[in-house]
Amino acid sequence: MKRMLLLLVILLVTGCTLNVNEKSNKCIIATSFPGYDFARAIVKDTGIDVKLLLSPGVDMHDYELTPKDMVDIENAELFIYVGGESDEWVKKVLNTTDKKLNTYKLMDAVKLLDEEIKPGMESDGGEEKSESDEHVWTSPINAIKIVEDLTKKISELFPEYESIFDNNSKSYIEEIKLVDSDIRDLINNTSKKTLIFADRFPLLYFTREYNLDYYAAFPGCAHETEASAKTIAFLIEKVKRENIPVIFTIELSSGNIAETIKKETGVKVSTFETAHNVTKSDYDNGVTYVDLMKRNISALREALK
Ligand SMILES: [Zn+2]
Repeated sequence: MKRMLLLLVILLVTGCTLNVNEKSNKCIIATSFPGYDFARAIVKDTGIDVKLLLSPGVDMHDYELTPKDMVDIENAELFIYVGGESDEWVKKVLNTTDKKLNTYKLMDAVKLLDEEIKPGMESDGGEEKSESDEHVWTSPINAIKIVEDLTKKISELFPEYESIFDNNSKSYIEEIKLVDSDIRDLINNTSKKTLIFADRFPLLYFTREYNLDYYAAFPGCAHETEASAKTIAFLIEKVKRENIPVIFTIELSSGNIAETIKKETGVKVSTFETAHNVTKSDYDNGVTYVDLMKRNISALREALK
């Protein structure tokens, strides 16, 4: 009993939710994979713990705050969130907590784009109030800006590790730059510029960065995932007319719309990793944002052939 109590006390006084073998009591917690991945790269070899609030394999848009997560957030040295629709609950946390939390918002680091409704997309049909698209991290150039900016923030909180952070940050940015130049090479060597997403479309920052055109079933991360016959017919027509070899779904999607289009056209279906979250096995294997982008490069190579 005494031992259990002791364990409980340790759990309460240390930062993130701890596995028994973790010794760090300094902790950074992130609502979604990009913030988690960037922070993890920056604090490497310092013993600072980084936790992903979202369970691996769970759609970020389905997350619901638990009392335990609330405690973890309040105990963390830094709380990283996106700042958009998908973690809108953060506003409530920041308004209700008595603690002074250190926070970092990804959407503050880059120039924002408004969500876009393209021809053929399902939209709410209601008023077209333009909202900023939250998926800033999907552009590798933005990812670099966020890593640079987040490094400053983390250095302010843990000045004793500043030089380690700087080195880690520089080498991670080099990796992202390589991804960026591989994508540019690929796009400069093909005449095809159109991507078809038989799914939601959280990749506006990515396609704008590389001057790619796209058609998709839904804008941003719209909740509905059933597309109308009209939307599906529109995408089928695009695949046929533009001779599209590969269409995309995004990770953790049902893939239903893509299957329908595949049946009709014989097109290949690939996954585009938007990095909201990763699967359990990717999480366990320590897969990074850069790894996900490399998968995307392979998929793009086929799609733009
Ligand atoms: Zn999203």
